[in-house]
Amino acid sequence: MDQQLLKIITDFYKDLPRQGPGSTRATKWALTRIMEMGPIEHILDIGCGTGAQTIVLGQETGAKVDALDRVQDFLDVLKIKRDQQRLSDRIQLHHAQMDKLPFEAESFDLIWSEGAIYNMGFTYGLKNWGKLLKPGGFMVVSEISWTTESRPQLLTDYWNSNYPEMDLVSAKVRLMEMMGYSTIGAFALPDVGWRNYYEPVSQKLAQLDGSGSPALQGFLEQIKTELKIYHEYRQYYNYFFYIMRRP
Ligand code: SAH
Repeated sequence: MDQQLLKIITDFYKDLPRQGPGSTRATKWALTRIMEMGPIEHILDIGCGTGAQTIVLGQETGAKVDALDRVQDFLDVLKIKRDQQRLSDRIQLHHAQMDKLPFEAESFDLIWSEGAIYNMGFTYGLKNWGKLLKPGGFMVVSEISWTTESRPQLLTDYWNSNYPEMDLVSAKVRLMEMMGYSTIGAFALPDVGWRNYYEPVSQKLAQLDGSGSPALQGFLEQIKTELKIYHEYRQYYNYFFYIMRRP
């Protein structure tokens, strides 16, 4: 990615509580299901951002957690939270790319990725990240998906141009099956999960003036469009948690 844009994105998001839709209760809900099914000793959190979910993973399990992101500024924020929560002996941070994961095959009981798999695509993530799971290991990813078969064409076009793998929940579940996983479940994020993300984003938008920089202005306009689309059309899509298991 263009370094100027990456800096704009980093500066915008690094002091927000999360970098995508989500909620602590949703994280815990998915985690609880999994902890009922097998021992979780080693977790990989891909695209951890400033670590809203990383801290929960650390607190709720006794596991060792490897958290990875390409943005060092996000990891620096997470490091402070981790140390405050006295989790430094169990959560380890990795500055790395999600398409060059620096880990050995079959080393994790659980791979977690909230609001980040779209950077590579759902299919890519399921195909490539699963190799790092031990047999019987779990994968939990959250991603935006359609909730209805029919919807305004304008909306379909908007999301397909932003995320070409945008699809129905049923199609995502089918992909999980085709990629060799067994399905544990899929559930919709409650509205509060979007508010947790979009409210701080809106506040930040109100504080920023992009008029001095075309790149910043372009970025802010994109976010404003996304918010407008959400407020108008949110009955047609949602964020979903997808929970699956390597046989
Ligand atoms: N899981 C966090 C962050 C989600 S935003 C949350 O839910 O709040 C997506 C994250 O993926 C960002 O932190 C971004 O820096 C990271 N990311 C995007 N592309 C990446 C890549 N190629 N390699 C590693 N991390 C990446």
